[in-house]
Amino acid sequence: MIKENLEAVNKRIADAAARVGRTDKITLVAVTKNHPVEMMEEAAKCGVTDVGENRVQEALQKLEAFPDNHLTWHLIGHLQTNKAKHAVEHFDLIHSIDSEHLLKAVDKEAGKIGKVQDILLQVNVAREESKFGMEVEDFPAMCELAKGMEHVRVLGLMCIAPNYDNVEDVRPVFRIAHALYEDMKPKFPEGQIRYLSMGMTHDFEIAIEEGANVVRVGTAIFGPRNY
Ligand SMILES: *Cc1c(COP(=O)(O)O)cnc(C)c1O
Repeated sequence: MIKENLEAVNKRIADAAARVGRTDKITLVAVTKNHPVEMMEEAAKCGVTDVGENRVQEALQKLEAFPDNHLTWHLIGHLQTNKAKHAVEHFDLIHSIDSEHLLKAVDKEAGKIGKVQDILLQVNVAREESKFGMEVEDFPAMCELAKGMEHVRVLGLMCIAPNYDNVEDVRPVFRIAHALYEDMKPKFPEGQIRYLSMGMTHDFEIAIEEGANVVRVGTAIFGPRNY
């Protein structure tokens, strides 16, 4: 099923881009969390290049089982400071930097292994109480702080939209996220800010219409997760 599902998702991505006249590259991050490593291997065979995991521990197990994977690994779930070490060792892009504390921990751990860690800043655009992500008000200061760090490189912004009954209600959230993303560009070296990560199974088409160039899709590719 993965092959067919991927084809369908890729078509929906292309259709959403076409609706708004976009021709730029849109990266599909296949979210493999809570699915066995075999599904990740299958997805890789079907052309998936980017995978998303929520938990460092689960990702480590998969990396062990599938070492020569040639995949780009995205950490999309909340990261605890005490897991920053393993996160910088294994992930290409960390989407979920949402506090000063965590930013500093990632910079420090990356420094220890001589890495410059690519990151996104996660912003709680919809101001949901139950969600991770920094406050919109803290975002400019976090950009400034990150800019001065030697071992992190900010490549853009990530947000998770609320799960509204009417999916169209997410559109203004994505629109604000896109505006914040555009605001970032002049603050950093030219060309550095390049990823706007937003959109999941239920809302990725709207996210693309509103400017996302990284979408994180699990269920539509792999089916429901077993917890
Ligand atoms: C689980 C998860 C996704 C994928 O969700 P689906 O609805 O299965 O597509 C995307 N982003 C984040 C941050 C997630 O935790």
